[in-house]
Amino acid sequence: MLQERLYYQEPYRTSFTTTVIQHAIDEQGRPFVVLENTAFYPTGGGQPHDTGHIADVAVVDVEEVDGEVRHYLESPLSSGGTVSAEIDWDRRFDHMQQHTGQHILTAAFVELFNYPTVSFHLGREFVTIDLATEQVSTGDLRAAEKLANAVILENRPIEQRWVTQEELSAYSLRKQVSVDEEIRLVIIPNFDTNGCGGTHPSSTGQIGSLKILSTEKQKKNTRIHFVCGKRVLDQLGAVHEELSDVAQLLSTPLVQAAEATQKLLDAQHTTEKKLEAAYEQLLDVEAASLAGRKTTVIRQTYTDRSMQELQKLARKTLALCERAIVVLVSETDDKLQFVASRTNSLSPDMRTVSSIALPIIEGKGGGSATTVQGGGSRLISAQELAELLERSIPVHA
Ligand SMILES: [Zn+2]
Repeated sequence: MLQERLYYQEPYRTSFTTTVIQHAIDEQGRPFVVLENTAFYPTGGGQPHDTGHIADVAVVDVEEVDGEVRHYLESPLSSGGTVSAEIDWDRRFDHMQQHTGQHILTAAFVELFNYPTVSFHLGREFVTIDLATEQVSTGDLRAAEKLANAVILENRPIEQRWVTQEELSAYSLRKQVSVDEEIRLVIIPNFDTNGCGGTHPSSTGQIGSLKILSTEKQKKNTRIHFVCGKRVLDQLGAVHEELSDVAQLLSTPLVQAAEATQKLLDAQHTTEKKLEAAYEQLLDVEAASLAGRKTTVIRQTYTDRSMQELQKLARKTLALCERAIVVLVSETDDKLQFVASRTNSLSPDMRTVSSIALPIIEGKGGGSATTVQGGGSRLISAQELAELLERSIPVHA
């Protein structure tokens, strides 16, 4: 009988003595034991399994298969007969807090806004429920959180009751139950009655508190991320620490960190605009200097300049020349980039230039008859590439 299991009979039981009734290895080669009775909760109903020890061997997974509870062990158990076992209470109690918090939050959304919960996930850090509604306003979130915490604070009893299918009609359930026999109801009087096979604390106060952290759109549903119990403190601690670091970097009180960050971003935006204008002026000066050489081919190499910069500089330089071909090359540790461009008053097809240079640097490029650009590996120096580009310019009349 399901209801005789220790985790239902005594949900606060952390250690127990029992008899091993089966030693076996499953299809994947994992050793497990079946016990006469157990306080280990097997994965089910959205609540993860317990962990712990049986005769000092670690229990790594607990699953119910065909009505038997398999306790998967880190290594096979050498002893048989009577064994003592203990469960990891911190893990179990955390699951009880999160899982029961979910009952309450789900009931709060139904009671206040008639948003049913369509799925639930108890993760390692966060818990989520998906509500059957496309959006939930901040006000609605606050109201549901407030109601859930009020129910927690009132420390209402949490009852569990085993009922038959016939007896079920006397209760108004939030959701249809999914089993036919040994139906277990979890009841928070005057608030929620729900079919559930999980483990729960004996009163709502033990959940401590519940905090909604964020929401996320999931197709036609809304996913609510939240935490309960000790996880609220864990989250508060982690977020507080992070925010304190931010506040310290900004030399501002914690509660003004957002305002200080906004100021910093505004200042950065202004600086960027100024820098952009100053850089444009610098390019004008550089272009004037290149154009001032008065040679037909103007060749120059640089370090760490972007393709965009080279193109801009070539454009600005040619705008100041009547007849000129500009060859600009930039090198980084492992790459070469170039631009070769001419005024319309000259006629060589610049594509010839790149078609000769690109194979030498195993590069790729493109362009038109008047301007080409490309990039490749630094197999030769920037100076050598610039000279090669210049030599590749077709001689014209
Ligand atoms: Zn439950």
